[in-house]
Amino acid sequence: MTRIVVLTGAGISAESGVPTFRGPDGLWEGHDIEDVATPEGFERDPDTVLAFYDARRRVAASVVPNAAHRALARLEGAIGDDLLVVTQNVDDLHERAGSHNLVHMHGELFRALCLACGARPTCDGDLIDRPHCPACGERMLRPDVVWFGEMPYDLERIEQAVVACDVFVSIGTSGAVYPAAGYVALAAAFGAHTVELNLEPTDAAVPFDDARTGPAGELVPAWVDEVLSARSPRA
Ligand code: NAD
Repeated sequence: MTRIVVLTGAGISAESGVPTFRGPDGLWEGHDIEDVATPEGFERDPDTVLAFYDARRRVAASVVPNAAHRALARLEGAIGDDLLVVTQNVDDLHERAGSHNLVHMHGELFRALCLACGARPTCDGDLIDRPHCPACGERMLRPDVVWFGEMPYDLERIEQAVVACDVFVSIGTSGAVYPAAGYVALAAAFGAHTVELNLEPTDAAVPFDDARTGPAGELVPAWVDEVLSARSPRA
């Protein structure tokens, strides 16, 4: 069976109405990335950072999965464990579309991380209000989002899947954030066929075998159709 690893980034959620990371001005929603996506930024000004992610959480809760998220869930429905989706996104649009075999390597907006006890409770409300941790009762919750300089989640599981896959697909990611940006080179070194689906060409570490440009909402369903028809050719 063909094993597929799909890496997704902010671009897959763009057509749902979630803005991508790097706007044309180099800012994320008008903020310097150093201020809202680093542990130092949080230490300097926790209120700004908590309010920033509270706003991102509200936006994520107000949008719905698009055709690209749904196509990946359809692919999982057809090939099951042969597909792993590794997302850099902190929204929950993949799971709301129906994906289960999913790793949130940069954490999740809808979880908090307790700085007192390390619990990672689900989080629907605002952290700026300093809610109590449901595990230890302290009021030291931050967003469970991996910031620059922090270790992404589940790296061992991801790397094992990348080196073992037959096809590696990168969707809607600029390839600027490591270690995710290095996975195409790793997959290629271990013999995988590599595919990029992005609005525009990117400066990947190594060229993809197949690079297609266009909106994810069109490219991803078409690619999934190709994969499924190749797996079950008509007699
Ligand atoms: P990025 O913003 O750096 O790059 C987005 C990429 O998506 C670009 O290459 C762009 O050309 C492409 N793109 C934009 N619209 C597209 C579309 N409609 N179809 C296909 N491709 C499209 O995003 P990144 O590489 O994911 O950056 C990583 C960081 O951004 C992550 O750490 C993530 O946590 C954070 N982030 C997440 C979200 C989210 O959860 N939705 C949103 C913004 C930022």
